[in-house]
Amino acid sequence: MNSVEVKRRDGLARSGTYILGETSIAFPAAVDVETVFPELKQTVLSNVPLSAAPEFVQKYWPDEPANPVMIHPHHLSGVHSGDCVMVPGWHTVLNNPRNYVTWLTAMKAAIPPDTAWYAPASAVPSNIHMLCYSGFDLFDFIACDLAAARGIFLLPEGEFDRKWMDAGVCNCDGCEAGDLAQHNRMALIKELALVSRFIATSRLRELVESRCRMHSTHVAIMRHLDSMYDLMEQVVPVAREVPFGATSGETLNRVEIRRFARRVVERYQPPPADTAVLLPCSARKPYSLSQSHNKFTRAIQGRAHELIVTSPVGLVPRELELVYPAAHYDVPVTGYWDREEKAFISGVIAEYLQKNRYRRVIAHLDGGALEVAKMAADIAGIDLEFTCPGRRPTDGASLAALDTTLGGSRRVKQDLLKGICSWQFGIVPDTGGLMSRGRYPAVQYSRNRVQMFSLDTGTGLIRPTIEGWKLLGEGYRVEISDFVPQGDILAPGVEQVDPCIREGDEVLVVGPRVMGTGRAAMGAREMGRSKRGVAVRVRKIKMRPDQ
Ligand SMILES: [Zn+2]
Repeated sequence: MNSVEVKRRDGLARSGTYILGETSIAFPAAVDVETVFPELKQTVLSNVPLSAAPEFVQKYWPDEPANPVMIHPHHLSGVHSGDCVMVPGWHTVLNNPRNYVTWLTAMKAAIPPDTAWYAPASAVPSNIHMLCYSGFDLFDFIACDLAAARGIFLLPEGEFDRKWMDAGVCNCDGCEAGDLAQHNRMALIKELALVSRFIATSRLRELVESRCRMHSTHVAIMRHLDSMYDLMEQVVPVAREVPFGATSGETLNRVEIRRFARRVVERYQPPPADTAVLLPCSARKPYSLSQSHNKFTRAIQGRAHELIVTSPVGLVPRELELVYPAAHYDVPVTGYWDREEKAFISGVIAEYLQKNRYRRVIAHLDGGALEVAKMAADIAGIDLEFTCPGRRPTDGASLAALDTTLGGSRRVKQDLLKGICSWQFGIVPDTGGLMSRGRYPAVQYSRNRVQMFSLDTGTGLIRPTIEGWKLLGEGYRVEISDFVPQGDILAPGVEQVDPCIREGDEVLVVGPRVMGTGRAAMGAREMGRSKRGVAVRVRKIKMRPDQ
């Protein structure tokens, strides 16, 4: 019996184990196909191109069952959980980014998630980052060997003349022995090991952003994938605990950035406030622990709702400053904001200010952030007040002006818990009677000494206890069948799942006999369709009182 267990995910990329009879393969991996898939030798293969029309595919696609199971963008039937699927001719589309992404997304949407994906004769050290990023798991050495036969020296940076081997750029055993084929294979294995490490540490995107610069087609594939927001949003975790590298223009289109901004506009509920102050960001995160924000909050004295204008995240209400990626992004600060940044961020601020009406909006900003705020005010049709014309926001005179401007303003009742819950769950809990304790950001909330919520300082998300979930009403439920879980919830145990759940979300596990809290290890779609793998990492399980 074959099976596929995905252990780690990073967007579409995965690592895990493919079990084929007695053989167990840790992917992503390059394998010797003749050993792993001996049947392929006897399989009737087709020469149906990926670009063929559906009628042509139906007519000429070989209908014999085979392992791996061959699929085509127009032939997606006959695949079961645990299968390995193979996309013949995938190497032909690497130079056509638009088709690459159209066909990939069609196939990914139709095939069960717990399958291993094999791209035959496609992998070389310079494209393996993109193949893995696109959700392929298994590869072979065919393209590397063909390159060797043509005298091509392969590196992650590209394809070069075999003379490069004598230049000391690589010191593998193949290069030492003057064996080009061995070098090409070793370069692929080495790059795969690197990709695996980046998947394991949830930072594959950063590797892809750096590697893809050597090939315009790779950049284009990444950009096309970013434009498939609905597909990518389902597989990108809601939060990570690792730094978020915001070092390229494409960062602005990453799901993490778009989702954060959408939720600020669509879900987030600000505290009741007459006045808002737009503030610049700080290099130190969370912002409130920086020197500059210390000065701002001392000048504001709680008399306004604080909104931080920042690139690439957009607009960060003070209560969300810990939430991923607001506390995690690392951006090169030059003071220059390009046109795309300005357009995106001013759009987010304008939408926010149109939805949440303040009597006064004060722009305590300079430079690019001030420009963006002015653009947003124009779009939203509101007037801004300025407290640092021609001065730095941290100047004494600017801070004094901010203090004076807020004279007579009423205090705003900040509510960290309500703010984060509205963004995270789309629900505002009734926080009446809740007591908070702990030193920010390690805050906990309880009612009558019963703990209800705590803040996860790694991700900035709220962790409800079973009692806390009662204050959140509906949503974020994972329903399980009639069993008492011993440890984590596995995918086959899931009966029903709230479609808005993403990897990393806090969820409430509900079964006929138990209730539990935990964190989703996969998104809703994968939970509903997988036969293997951990669905929810359980924190606490309790028998239901009526049992
Ligand atoms: Zn070498």
